[in-house]
Amino acid sequence: MTLPIDPDWSTATLGVRAAAPETLSRDHSLPIALTSSFTFESAAQAAASFADPDPDAFIYSRFTNPTVQAFEQRLAAMEGGESCIATASGMAAIFTLCLAVMKTGDHLLTSRGLFGSTTQVFNNWLSRVGISVTYVDMADLQAWDAGFRDNTRLVFVETPSNPLMQLVDIAGLSALCKTRGVPLAVDNCFLTPILQKPLALGADFVIHSATKYLDGQGRCVGGAIVGDAQRVGKDIFGFMRNCGPCMSPFNAWVFFKGLETLKVRMDAHARHANEVALWLAQHPKVDTVHFPGLPQHPQYALAQAQQRTGGGIVSFEVKGGRDTAWRFIDATRLCSITANLGDARTTVTHPASTTHGRISAEARAAAGITEGLVRIAVGLEDPVDLIADLDRALGGA
Ligand SMILES: *Cc1c(COP(=O)(O)O)cnc(C)c1O
Repeated sequence: MTLPIDPDWSTATLGVRAAAPETLSRDHSLPIALTSSFTFESAAQAAASFADPDPDAFIYSRFTNPTVQAFEQRLAAMEGGESCIATASGMAAIFTLCLAVMKTGDHLLTSRGLFGSTTQVFNNWLSRVGISVTYVDMADLQAWDAGFRDNTRLVFVETPSNPLMQLVDIAGLSALCKTRGVPLAVDNCFLTPILQKPLALGADFVIHSATKYLDGQGRCVGGAIVGDAQRVGKDIFGFMRNCGPCMSPFNAWVFFKGLETLKVRMDAHARHANEVALWLAQHPKVDTVHFPGLPQHPQYALAQAQQRTGGGIVSFEVKGGRDTAWRFIDATRLCSITANLGDARTTVTHPASTTHGRISAEARAAAGITEGLVRIAVGLEDPVDLIADLDRALGGA
């Protein structure tokens, strides 16, 4: 049995209290159900469970598991969705969604400026099963409108985008999707339900890499798909049950606890990032700062309308290209050089030579990923110390 969810609770309260299962021993904290299977009282009960799999009955941990289910129900409540399926990684969530809603001959409409592995999946793996892809300029609703085809079966966006922090107008795009009956999926990894609610803006699916802010301390890899009871709770559950890209109970337990502190962490990440962005914007060695919380961001008005704050990630171009960028990165002491983000510790990356290193130089230039671009996922260190570190490193670069 799971404690009821009060519809009046805020996202922060849902993160702390929603879907806390009642256990036989009345544990206050969620126990980890480290078991691969569950027993039946009789052969007849086993047969009935297999014949008509109920997502709420426990059979085998590839299908359902109490710890994974607690995480799924709590995240669904926070995103305002009916159902959630947890996956082994964020990429598993994206691939699962694509294969669950599309088949050979279908078309996927998406934007430039996606996470690197997402582009690899769309270009190298979906093409193998005969699914075609069109990329449009994410900020241009007319380009989206013109991108639909008769066989378009999914629209996929990431907003804000990695690493240039460009936005898609979720409500505007959702209206275009609804007139054609095509579902819209939003990768909400950068903002989480604390700062942006894609389903309330008209999206049909929310994708998460739980690896990032939901964990919050860079420990586990995981992902999730949130949406309605039919498409997520039944169709995608059916794919998960058989194809098996499931989340481990241990990881679900880490993410479940992460949701309890998500509100305070996201607010602090966003406050610190705002201070860093304001400071970078006036630095003589910095050309451009990409941060949706700054009034000079080209889509500032849209950011104000669809997200609560600018979020925790800032990218910027240093003058002098790759050499200066690399010298700056090497000179920082409070920034870990690593690809992860959403960690309590600030992380720094050079997208052109890492996350976006495998795409061609022309494609990179077209996407605006310059050699001087640096991305910082601002952590929970005191921003005074962080800015002092960035200042020293920029001076040395
Ligand atoms: C990291 C990331 C992913 C992929 O998630 P994994 O958990 O690493 O598989 C997808 N989308 C975005 C925006 C990401 O940052």
